[in-house]
Amino acid sequence: MNKQEKLEKLNKKCDEICPCALRHSATQAVPGEGSVDAEIMFIGEAPGRNEDIHGRPFIGAAGKFLDEMLESIKISREDVFITNIVKYRPPNNRDPLPEEVRDCLPWLEKQIKLIKPKLVVFLGRHALNRFFPDEQISEAHGKLLKKKIKKITVSNFFALYHPAAALYNGSLREVLLKDFKKIPKILKKISSEEK
Ligand code: URA
Repeated sequence: MNKQEKLEKLNKKCDEICPCALRHSATQAVPGEGSVDAEIMFIGEAPGRNEDIHGRPFIGAAGKFLDEMLESIKISREDVFITNIVKYRPPNNRDPLPEEVRDCLPWLEKQIKLIKPKLVVFLGRHALNRFFPDEQISEAHGKLLKKKIKKITVSNFFALYHPAAALYNGSLREVLLKDFKKIPKILKKISSEEK
């Protein structure tokens, strides 16, 4: 079985067994999409309305903004992997509850372990705090965060403000654009450390 087939199997299995209560109100799961060989994996919070309808992550306004930022660093959406902490849409886009995050976490961990990205990029505080509970997004954004997390075999992380939060806030938008532009340099740094 190749890596793509493994990911498809993993997503199907996790969707079958995921105990998250949100599955009952959501149209469908939004497992994530992109390259199984991605060097960068983006992790957002939870699917919104458009994502729930189409079963694809980040395809609304925040997703368009994410696409633009990827373009600005000459990386295409197909070359990265994009997913969320929670795989089902919370009603009315409310914040996911701690138990919903907990119930979806094994699915995300298995995806990370399989894809093995060089860098995990958190989109917003929910994703950041799942792995770095003591960090504040206002402090941690734009910095390479290192932590050995055995379960997911990935140790390089980078936090950004969530594109939806920055979309209509001029100063956050500036910060997010500036942070995003650091990604290629950070990837290079990680690659040189791995040599
Ligand atoms: N916001 C998220 O956090 N994830 C999506 O998939 C879409 C919007």
